[in-house]
Amino acid sequence: MKKSHLSVGAVVALVAGITLLAVSASPTRQAADADFVVPSTGQVSPAGTARPPTAGATPSAADRDAAAPGATRVGSRPPVVDHGPRSGNLVALTFDADMTDAMRYQLRTGAAKSYANIKIIDLLEREQVPATFFLTGKWVEQYPKVTRRLADNPRFELANHTYGHHAFVRDCYQLPHLPARELTADAGRTFEVVAPYGGRQTRYFRFPGLCHDKAALDALAPLGVTVVDGDVISGDPFATAWRPIVRAVLDKVRAGSVVVLHVTEENAPMTDEALPHILAGLAERGLTPATLSEVLADDRTR
Ligand SMILES: [Zn+2]
Repeated sequence: MKKSHLSVGAVVALVAGITLLAVSASPTRQAADADFVVPSTGQVSPAGTARPPTAGATPSAADRDAAAPGATRVGSRPPVVDHGPRSGNLVALTFDADMTDAMRYQLRTGAAKSYANIKIIDLLEREQVPATFFLTGKWVEQYPKVTRRLADNPRFELANHTYGHHAFVRDCYQLPHLPARELTADAGRTFEVVAPYGGRQTRYFRFPGLCHDKAALDALAPLGVTVVDGDVISGDPFATAWRPIVRAVLDKVRAGSVVVLHVTEENAPMTDEALPHILAGLAERGLTPATLSEVLADDRTR
């Protein structure tokens, strides 16, 4: 199922992304999942970290994952969340960190300078603004120092945006497609890539293009995650001006909103210019940025 609330800008951006993809080798991944095993219990664990089920002094990886924000029961189809409670005053600013083989090719050839918008991180840190980053595994591998900086900030949460930014349904804005059955290992691989950085790890997951169907959701069941789409699409990819981004966010944002932005600089070059105006607009509306887990768990109205 394709989400219908993507803006025209987002569609243009995603299609424009295909232009980049077309110039590089096929970004398919093969045999890269051999380091993941799927036991008969349906649980996925990285090879070599399996522990006996006896109680120990150190919590197991499974215990750690089960305690993380967004964790759901392993083996059941994950819930899909657009936003949190509407009558608080919290909103979640979420930043996607896309990375494909085509984008890495752009970096190698010098056609792109950076897909890590440090100005956004500088601003969030300077203003002490909480945020949540949906990281692709390939982005983390490309930018380990930036990832370290994100993980070291107690106001930032880390979430999962697949390994290589494939679509796991067909016809998702022409994003390169992988079969849904490969998503279990793909998303699991990203958790393993991000885990060593520590910080505020979560079990939140976002699909590229926000495209998902029943099979794709079922493929996430072994991972015990919550799927987060978002209700405010900024349309920041490939923007040529900051004002439309600000307008798109401030026109729609409400208490409990989950705002979708990008930290991919070259592919979202206006986001850092839009951000101060977005923060000012939120303050005018009495809305306070918070991490995703705080926004989704805000139960003051329940
Ligand atoms: Zn993305």
